Amino acid sequence: MIDWNTDRILPVAGKISRPSCDSCLGRQFANVGHGMSNVERGSILRKSLGIAEVEPDECWLCEGIMGELENFSSMIVEAMDGYEYDTFLVGSRVEEDILKREEELLSLTDYGETIKREINREVGKLVADATGKEVDFIRPHITAIINTQYDDIELDVRPLYIYGRYRKLVRGIPQTRWPCRKCGGIGCDYCHGTGKMYEESVEEIIAERVVELADGTEEYFHGAGREDIDVLMLGNGRPFILEVREPRRRNLDLKMLEGEINSFGMNKVEVSDLRFAEKSEIEKLKSLKASKTYRVEIALEGEGKLNEAVNALRNCYIDQRTPSRVVHRRADKIRRRKILDIRVEAEGPGEAVLVVKAESGTYIKELVTGDGGRTKPSLSELAGCPAEVKKLDVIGIGDKDGEKIERN
Ligand SMILES: [Zn+2]
Ligand SMILES: [Zn+2]
Repeated sequence: MIDWNTDRILPVAGKISRPSCDSCLGRQFANVGHGMSNVERGSILRKSLGIAEVEPDECWLCEGIMGELENFSSMIVEAMDGYEYDTFLVGSRVEEDILKREEELLSLTDYGETIKREINREVGKLVADATGKEVDFIRPHITAIINTQYDDIELDVRPLYIYGRYRKLVRGIPQTRWPCRKCGGIGCDYCHGTGKMYEESVEEIIAERVVELADGTEEYFHGAGREDIDVLMLGNGRPFILEVREPRRRNLDLKMLEGEINSFGMNKVEVSDLRFAEKSEIEKLKSLKASKTYRVEIALEGEGKLNEAVNALRNCYIDQRTPSRVVHRRADKIRRRKILDIRVEAEGPGEAVLVVKAESGTYIKELVTGDGGRTKPSLSELAGCPAEVKKLDVIGIGDKDGEKIERN
């Protein structure tokens, strides 16, 4: 038990001459004496000072807020009721007037804490007792913010992040939803009212069922790079993270989800390796510098020395000036990239199939054509005849098992 008199506390408490509720009085000495609430501290002090009890409604500092904690707790429990969550955190916005008065008081002692801190902690305890859920200060599923001025609760629901790898089995589908370039997504004659340039996308095929099951509001698709619309994504698939905002359900059965997406994808898009992820992984995914392996069908014009060209390119560095097809939207500069492996898989008159493994960021179409001398050396240049790409597929990302993205 603390001796409030000899601790120089009572004299300071005596200065708090205006009518204060026990919470507000005790809070100014929150760091004195452990294992008791501010209400208990305030009550001891008040009795030592011989003052009558002040109800929160009459309190000059909180103007009744400290009598509302049970009420705030029930409002939060009710607001979170429609959501699946394991952890939560309570925050608060308190009127400026109260914070100003509090500042005045806190400057009198070195032992106090703020009213927000007390509200957050005490309401947090009440909500935990009522729901059986845990408070998480770092990554709560839901943050409930009390607005004391409007007697209102606002929920900040942590998005759901799902990692996976996708395979794109047909050509002509962009990776992400592509808004109509005429109307920007509203719907017009040009896009037949769809608001989109393409009927479907890898993003939409994967996300539709996930958003539905998670009962979220919107989604964002984060891919580890992207392939062109006319390029297949095969092999082990391309890593992605799907973000679903404001999910009402978050305990999804990902194995079942995988099956549903794959049957919904109808042999156009397939997903694998689904698991829950964290927001911090998105950045890592975006900056992933994985090598890629391609299968390239090429056409050769005339008699070229294909095998010599392929042998010369293996383990060779090439310099690629920004391709003429993308230079209007990207900086014109020269990038040096390594061709890690290249071999001829099949060969016929005037055509061949190559397998090429190259560093991240290599332009494969230009490696074949030379892009009018912008890529050097190129297959066309080394073979001594014009060459072009008929079909291009990504058949692997990273090494055999793919570059693993570690969780932190
Ligand atoms: Zn008060
Ligand atoms: Zn349109």
